[in-house]
Amino acid sequence: MVHLLNAIDDLLTPWFHDHGQGKYRVGQVRQWLFQQRASNFSEMTNLSQSLRDELSRDFTIWSATVAKHTQADDGTEKLLLTLADGGQIECVLLRDEVRRTICISTQVGCGMGCVFCASGLDGLSRNLTTGEIVEQMLRLQSLLREDERLSHIVVMGMGEPLANLDALLPALAEATREDGLGISARRITISTVGLTKAMRRLAETTPRYRLAVSLHAPNDELRQQIVPVADKIRIADVLAEADNYFDLSGRQLTFEYVLLGGINDSPREATELVNLLAGRTAILNVIPYNPVAGLPYKTPSHNAQRAFRQILEQGGVSVHFRHRKGDAIDAACGQLRRRAQSEAALVGIDARVGEGEGGRGGVS
Ligand code: SAH
Repeated sequence: MVHLLNAIDDLLTPWFHDHGQGKYRVGQVRQWLFQQRASNFSEMTNLSQSLRDELSRDFTIWSATVAKHTQADDGTEKLLLTLADGGQIECVLLRDEVRRTICISTQVGCGMGCVFCASGLDGLSRNLTTGEIVEQMLRLQSLLREDERLSHIVVMGMGEPLANLDALLPALAEATREDGLGISARRITISTVGLTKAMRRLAETTPRYRLAVSLHAPNDELRQQIVPVADKIRIADVLAEADNYFDLSGRQLTFEYVLLGGINDSPREATELVNLLAGRTAILNVIPYNPVAGLPYKTPSHNAQRAFRQILEQGGVSVHFRHRKGDAIDAACGQLRRRAQSEAALVGIDARVGEGEGGRGGVS
């Protein structure tokens, strides 16, 4: 079966033509998928029964199953999806006043190896397809109440988005299209560890989205200890590509900095950061480390966090401390998948066997 979300127009246009139907049919299906939040062809009642039957014979809308659906008191919801080949990914819906932000994954696992991150602990399995990325968007959208609208997308789930641009860009195009999710590109943020060639490619082809660069250290020596790929990519080059992206896109840059107690949270690093970022139109997002089972890192004390923040603010850096949402449901990337897999290992079952399809019944 063909996964429709991989290339909706390119698959449906010839299909409807072959079935003697006008091109407007493609728009009708799109309307069902993106606006009506339909989850199967049988709901598409402006198509004849026989067309609906034939569509469901030839195409599948969902390629994954929901292995787990968790909800936190603050409105955060998280899906653990099991893909057709058994790989697992996570995606999250965050509710913040009127904002409805989804956080999506781009790879199964991750090859970047950042030492504090759960997603990369077992390395990279594979890139996601465009369809698997769009599927996360639609499944998360279907969790919303009728009066809620998706407003923002952050590509900050599992994986390195810039290592999978070929699949990501068509998926984001569906997100921004008027007859797709209709989300403005300004409200979509791609987070990268700083792959300079791909940053250049994004700047030259589609400088429409916001870019967030995971820095985590103010100098190359420390960064290499925290972000292993940094042994080939110098901070100066990452910043040059980020500046180039800013010049071409006009979108304010974000730098991310996971604060690890005793490692990158001293006043010295704060001062170095001020020197590095001063003069840039950028926001620094400081994320106190979210503990990952089995890893030795520590979340800095409140005092250390306050001192770090003060130096940055006094140095004129626009700094946000990201408040943590969804802690209770392991909403930091890669954590739910790990927990599910280790629990499954404990009881001797295969984590790849989902608990149910549809995502509505499985709330725990
Ligand atoms: N590979 C991309 C996107 C995925 S990670 C990148 O590196 O930016 C998204 C953000 O979550 C990154 O800034 C990452 O450093 C952060 N993150 C990952 N694990 C974390 C943890 N345990 N605690 C706090 N932040 C974490």
